[in-house]
Amino acid sequence: MKKYNFNAGPSMLPREVIENTAKQILDFNGSGLSLMEISHRAKDFQPVVDEAEALVKELLNVPEGYSVIFLGGGASLQFMQIPANFLIKKAGYVNSGTWAKKAMKEAKLFGEVVEVASSADDNYTHLPHNYEIPADLDYLHICTNNTIFGTELREDIDAPVRLIADMSSDILSRPVDVSKYDAIYAGAQKNMSMAGVTVIIVKDDVLGKAPRELPTMLDYRTHVEKGSMFNTPPVVPIYTLMETLRWVKAQGGVKEMDRRAHECAEALYAEIDRNKLFRGTVAKEDRSLMNICFVMNDEFKDLEKSFLDFATERGMVGIKGHRSVGGFRASCYNAMTMEGVNALIQTMKDFEAQH
Ligand SMILES: *Cc1c(COP(=O)(O)O)cnc(C)c1O
Repeated sequence: MKKYNFNAGPSMLPREVIENTAKQILDFNGSGLSLMEISHRAKDFQPVVDEAEALVKELLNVPEGYSVIFLGGGASLQFMQIPANFLIKKAGYVNSGTWAKKAMKEAKLFGEVVEVASSADDNYTHLPHNYEIPADLDYLHICTNNTIFGTELREDIDAPVRLIADMSSDILSRPVDVSKYDAIYAGAQKNMSMAGVTVIIVKDDVLGKAPRELPTMLDYRTHVEKGSMFNTPPVVPIYTLMETLRWVKAQGGVKEMDRRAHECAEALYAEIDRNKLFRGTVAKEDRSLMNICFVMNDEFKDLEKSFLDFATERGMVGIKGHRSVGGFRASCYNAMTMEGVNALIQTMKDFEAQH
């Protein structure tokens, strides 16, 4: 039976990206060696890093004066690497969900942290809106897509201070005005690659200002200067990233990804709103196009387990909601197709017809 992968991360990748990576794992560029066995300094591998970097810049229209680096440690390492490099006295955080809160916790190790806005009291069922950004912050940190709660900020805000964004779960799903940010970071395993690499886009002239000595590995300058080759980078995840970037470009770039994201999410939300069994969990204006969260309506609560079984039998994978929301979550990243979304919609309709 065909499987439709709605996992929140690691998540679905385009089939051809997986196949091309698999080929290179067996025989890298006809060298007779696996991609896993070669030196990261092999002359055949440098072009992979160069192309991945160039494609990130091209696809996201990264302006002059920014560097793109690939690091290990996941987005979670960035929760501390960002304040280590950028926090001088005081940073502001928008607390829009679990990941935003974790980022804020790490920043407190490096200086004063202000929670500029929060939707925690409403269990993050909407984004914080209409908050004031103090002008004396070293930076404001936002999380553009709240993977767990299913809210998303799909625009680039104006901030009177440096703006830093965790875009782990919606990068490459829309055009971004990078010039509004001083740093953007994203763990790759949601929308770009397998787990193991994190993409960081950082403005060069803000580096080196932190009033602390940084361990070499934590200083972004180390990796900018060495082109992500200071130490052994995650070779296979970077290769897969490059393949995904090629795929995004061939499909029509981030504008086309944006169009598809709207198409998939709007169809699924329309079914959630129409179907008597289900309801969405977040404010309509803040609904994520990437992570679509829904629960059973109260009078059908006892059908939750049986819907999950029903959907699983039909090939739906990964739709169980995160424990802090419950219900269901269908993640529709770039590689998801309307075919997959329609299969889920049909499953919901068929289940409704039985009840
Ligand atoms: C998954 C996720 C993270 C954590 O990523 P790791 O790579 O596992 O550290 C951080 N932020 C957001 C928005 C995420 O979705």
